[in-house]
Amino acid sequence: MWRIRLHGRGGQGIKTASQILGSAGFYSGFQAQDFPLYGAERRGAPVMAFTRISEKVILERGPIISPDIILIGDETLLNDSQSAPLCGADPTTLIFVNSPHPPEKLAQKFSLVTADLTDLCHKHLNKRTIYSSALSAVGARLLGTIELADLLQAVEDELTQQGIVTQALQGNLELVREIYTKIEPAILTPKVEKTLITKPMVLPDYRPVVDGAPIILEPGNMALRKTGNWRVERPEIDYTHCNDCLICYARCPDGVIAVNPEGRPAIDYDHCKGCLICAQECPGHFINTVRETGLFP
Ligand code: SF4
Ligand code: SF4
Repeated sequence: MWRIRLHGRGGQGIKTASQILGSAGFYSGFQAQDFPLYGAERRGAPVMAFTRISEKVILERGPIISPDIILIGDETLLNDSQSAPLCGADPTTLIFVNSPHPPEKLAQKFSLVTADLTDLCHKHLNKRTIYSSALSAVGARLLGTIELADLLQAVEDELTQQGIVTQALQGNLELVREIYTKIEPAILTPKVEKTLITKPMVLPDYRPVVDGAPIILEPGNMALRKTGNWRVERPEIDYTHCNDCLICYARCPDGVIAVNPEGRPAIDYDHCKGCLICAQECPGHFINTVRETGLFP
């Protein structure tokens, strides 16, 4: 069985990537299983998804702890201790990072493949942060057992179910074809299969609801949760042209644009999630967007 774990951020199509990969595996004659795992957070928050592909019936359930392949759609996650995308990786794990620059330390420890999916998505989809087709194509190609025709069929089926328009679908199919030719199949070392042991059913005791419900113990603690590393693109105010109208200050949904003592807008990068609404709302387009790159050495 091949176990593939996908990491990315809310809104990047990571769940869809795992679904496409699962469907492509199924169309190529394998058993497949795919599912996502994410919390209550919204766009930009770290998310995970899992795909298992096997020649035999898959009895294993639950998140993949010991993956054969880790697909990282957003390289900034490498610096996110809460996401920990390398968790469970060992020297036999193949790691893919969407990055224009191979992270050196990672290459010393693991088999590493990189490609700049962000630029490829921009080229074919005119969007930088939708990795559903791209990441599934990388996974399928690394596995080396999934035919291009099956992958294209899976992309078409999954995206059509989501209501994609014809032109965007064609862009996704072109993107997949290009990735399929760019990435070489990997030589994967199968992990030793563990024998599943049947254990007696556990019946939980009754607990008062407050034991399991989330409780906010301190008021006003939002500032402690630094969400700046959720950004894929960074807004940068062009102060030479900004006329201090403060529309961006009013429109930022997270309230992270302050007004400094000179009456100018100032972005709090510790908490800005990079939604780029401010850049869209600035009447003179005086907020530039700059791609964040991973800081992993
Ligand atoms: S990108 Fe702009 S609007 Fe979005 S959170 Fe950051 S400062 Fe606010
Ligand atoms: S909306 Fe644009 S012009 Fe107005 S304060 Fe913000 S950056 Fe400056």
